[in-house]
Order: sequence, then structure tokens, then C-alpha cells
Amino acid sequence: MVKEQYNKIRERIEAACRRVGRDPSEVTLVAVSKTKPPEMLLEAYEAGARNFGENKVQEILEKQPLLPEDIRWHMIGHLQTNKVRQIVDRVCLIHSVDSVKLARAIEKEASARNLSVPILLEVNVAREESKFGFFLEETEAALDEIAALPHLQVRGLMTIAPFVENAEENRPVFRKLYQFFIDMKRKKADNMNINVLSMGMTGDFEVAVEEGATMVRVGTGIFGER
Ligand SMILES: *Cc1c(COP(=O)(O)O)cnc(C)c1O
Repeated sequence: MVKEQYNKIRERIEAACRRVGRDPSEVTLVAVSKTKPPEMLLEAYEAGARNFGENKVQEILEKQPLLPEDIRWHMIGHLQTNKVRQIVDRVCLIHSVDSVKLARAIEKEASARNLSVPILLEVNVAREESKFGFFLEETEAALDEIAALPHLQVRGLMTIAPFVENAEENRPVFRKLYQFFIDMKRKKADNMNINVLSMGMTGDFEVAVEEGATMVRVGTGIFGER
């Protein structure tokens, strides 16, 4: 089941790329495996999945030793500063840096262990009260402040779009963040390597791909309802 669903999502990403003339190799599918047992992750792995997303530190720590070593783990959920220590050397990318305070906590830990940690800044594009992340107009200043932290690599931006019935409703959200992403990429080209735009989930990933996502985070569409 998981295999077929994983393949189907990949095909839908490829079709979305074709519609807008993008190369599917530009889009990384992160299989969001939160709450799902290791056996299901292994099924996705066998279908070709190598990038897995989790939103809880504890769950990453539990699953990681049970699964193949070449899996790239992504931290996609809100991260508390007191959990940074446990995760900082376990993941390939932290998508959810939503405050300068958190960035400083990661810097402190990375510095102590001489690590360079790739991160994304989470942007609350639609200004939802229930969500974490920087407002768009705060993001450039945060980016400059965080980019000055020597043990962090700011790789790009992430957003969780609103929950909507019709994915088209999120197109303006994705378009807005893509535009900002392009602006930042140009302006910050000298001292930052900004090339990741993480947006799109089960309900809206095709629209996100059409609007320029380089990473989509799909859970339900691969592993079923949680
Ligand atoms: C759970 C989660 C997803 C995946 O959501 P689905 O709708 O199941 O695809 C993506 N991103 C984040 C940050 C999540 O917490």
C-alpha cells in the first residue's frame, strides 16, 4: 500500500512539474512519517524514499536506530530550545526555525560540537494565529541576524499553508513566498546559499510545485490518515 501510494505521489509531482516546465529532479519529496511505525517507513524506503520528516524529537530518536543509515531525517515540527541538544546532529535539515531565540540555541549547541547545521526559516505567510513562524515582513531582518551565526547554514524557507478545502486557495500563499524566496536568493547570493523552498502537503503539494516548491512534505498521501 505505502509503496503504491509513494509512487503515486512521485508521479503527481512529476506531472505538476511537466505542467509548468520544471525538471522533477528539482523537487525533493519528504515522506512525513510522524506517528507511523518503522515497518511503514521501511515500505516507503523500499519504494525509494530517502527523506523522512518528523515533528517530534523523541520520535526521531526512537525510529532512527531501527531504520537504514542512509535515510535523511528532516525536523519539520516546532522545536523547543531545550530539545535542540538531542537533535542537532541527527537531522539533515531543520525546517522549523521560527524565532531568533531558537536559532541562537542551535548555534550554541552547534558551536560546542563544531557542527554546521542546515536550517530553513519558517514563514507564517497567511499570518495565522495558530501557527509558528516569522511574518513575511520580519523575515529578511531575521535572515540577516541568523545568517551571522557562524555554525548555521540558512538554506531557505518553509511554510505551512492554511488548511483549505480547495488547494487553489493556497496558490497566492505559495506564490507570495516563492517571490520572496527569489528576492532573497538574489539579494543574499554573496554570503548565503539559499536554494530550498519547503512548501506543500498532501492537500496542496501539486499547487506548491507549480508555484516553485523545491521540497514538499507529504504524510497522509503516503502513509494514510493519522
Ligand atoms: C504533518 C505535517 C505535514 C504533512 O501533512 P499531510 O497533510 O499529512 O501531508 C507537513 N508538514 C508539517 C510541518 C507537518 O507537521
